[in-house]
Amino acid sequence: MSDIDRAALTNAALMYVHYCEREGCQGWGSWGNTPSPAVATRWWCFEHFPHKSNEQEQALKRKLEAAERGDMAQ
Ligand SMILES: [Zn+2]
Repeated sequence: MSDIDRAALTNAALMYVHYCEREGCQGWGSWGNTPSPAVATRWWCFEHFPHKSNEQEQALKRKLEAAERGDMAQ
């Protein structure tokens, strides 16, 4: 067997694209969660990720409040 026998790679490798699954959200789904390896992973942006720890929830709240204050100052 040699490399010549192999079929050429004609299709681009599929990129694994996963945006936030919340309807209407254009955020990148960087936060995934799956109850088991047999179940497909679901993805959300940080804001919509439903499995945040209390600490993460507080951090997001502070971030959103800061953004709100920033908007009002303009
Ligand atoms: Zn989202």
